[in-house]
Amino acid sequence: MNPYDILIVGGGLVGASLVRALQGRGLRIAVVEAVQFETRTEAGYDDRAIALAHGTQRIFSSLGLWNDLADDATPIHRIHVSDRCPATLADLNLGAEAATATLVMDDATRMLTARLVVAADGAGSAVRDRLGIPVIDRDYGQTAVIANITPQLPHRHVAFERFTDTGPMALLPMSAGRCALVWTVDSRETGEVMGFSDSEFLSRLQERFGYRLGRFERVGRRQAYPLRLIKAKESVRHRLALVGNAAHTLHPIAGQGFNLGVRDIAVLAEVLVDALVGGHDPGELAVLNRYDAWRHADHQRVTAFTDGLARLFTLPLPALGMARAAGMLALDLLPPAKRLLTRLTMGRSGRMPRLARGLPL
Ligand SMILES: Cc1cc2nc3c(=O)[nH]c(=O)nc-3n(C[C@H](O)[C@H](O)[C@H](O)COP(=O)(O)OP(=O)(O)OC[C@H]3O[C@@H](n4cnc5c(N)ncnc54)[C@H](O)[C@@H]3O)c2cc1C
Repeated sequence: MNPYDILIVGGGLVGASLVRALQGRGLRIAVVEAVQFETRTEAGYDDRAIALAHGTQRIFSSLGLWNDLADDATPIHRIHVSDRCPATLADLNLGAEAATATLVMDDATRMLTARLVVAADGAGSAVRDRLGIPVIDRDYGQTAVIANITPQLPHRHVAFERFTDTGPMALLPMSAGRCALVWTVDSRETGEVMGFSDSEFLSRLQERFGYRLGRFERVGRRQAYPLRLIKAKESVRHRLALVGNAAHTLHPIAGQGFNLGVRDIAVLAEVLVDALVGGHDPGELAVLNRYDAWRHADHQRVTAFTDGLARLFTLPLPALGMARAAGMLALDLLPPAKRLLTRLTMGRSGRMPRLARGLPL
C-alpha cells in the first residue's frame, strides 16, 4: 500500500481548491474523484456561474488563480490533475496511526492509506455516510432548475431577481451575452419543467420574467438541484476533516455555499501547514480541532442567515410581500445587521486566514 499524507475524497470545486492550496509543500496528496475530469479549458455554453465573494477572490489571488478566473469563469478545471480518476470510495476506516480507504477503479479495488482524509465529496458525502456522521437535513421542497439563457438584449452586467408563483428566479450576467438562470420550482413540478421542450421552457420563463431583456432566444442544458440544508454535526474526527458541501450544503439563494467552502480550505490549509512546520502529525485530532473551532462561528452564521432567507422567500406569495418588507425594514433599522449581511456576503466576517489576507501560507 502507498502511504499518503493527505487523501482528498472529491475533486469538485472545494477539493480541487484544497489541492491547489497545499501544492508545493512536499506533501504526498491523493485525490479520489468519481467523475472523469474535463480536459476542456475554454468556457462552453453550459458552464455554471458561481458568484464569488470578495474574500474568495482574495484567497484565489493568494493561490495564484485569480488572473485565470478573472478572464472567464471556468479555469478551475485546470487544477483538476489526477491519474486516479474516475474512482469511488467503497470503504473507509480511521485508525490510530493512519486511515485506510478502499477504492473502486475500473471494477478493481485498491487500498490507500493516509495520515489524514479530507471529505470534499459533496452533499451526499459517502465519507460521512460510511462513518455514520449524523446530519441536520431539511428538505425545502424546492428544486433549482439551472440553465444558460441568451436574451435578445444585452444584460449590461445587471443581475435580475424575480419572485414568481413557483419561487425566486435569478438571471445572472455571464460572458458572451449569456445569463445564468436559477429558477426555483416546487419539487413536485420538477419533472414537468425538465420535460418541457426548449421553446415551451423559454415561453414559461418569459411569462414570469417579462421582456426587460427582450425575447429569450436560446436555452442550454437544464440541470435540476433539489434544495436542502444539510449540516454535518461533526466536522472532524481523528484522521478526518469535512470541507465544503460535505460539511454544509446550503440553499443557493444567498450564493454562499462555495464561498463558505473556500474559507474552509483556506483555514484547513493554514492549520495543516502550521502543524507540519511545528513537527505535528496533520491527522491528529488536536490539530483538526483547531480547524473545527475556527470554522464553527462562520458555519453557524452563514447557515442560519441562508436558511432564514430561504424560508422567508419560500413563503406563499401574499405572505411573501409583507414578510420580505418586514425583513428588509428590520435590516434597514438595524445597521449592525446590515453591516453583518454585507460582511457575510463579502466573505469577510470573523478572524481571517492568511490566504484571505493576501498572505502566503
Ligand atoms: C443552483 C446553484 C447555484 C449556486 N450558486 C452559488 C453561488 O453563486 N455562490 C456560491 O458560493 N455557491 C453557490 N452554489 C453552491 C456551490 O455550487 C457549492 O457549494 C459547491 O459547488 C460545493 O463544492 P464541493 O466541492 O464541496 O462539492 P461538489 O461540487 O458537490 O463536489 C463533490 C465532488 O465529489 C465527488 N464525489 C462524490 N462522491 C464521491 C465518492 N464516493 N468517491 C469519489 N468522489 C466522489 C463528486 O463527483 C464531485 O466532483 C450554488 C449551488 C447551486 C445548486
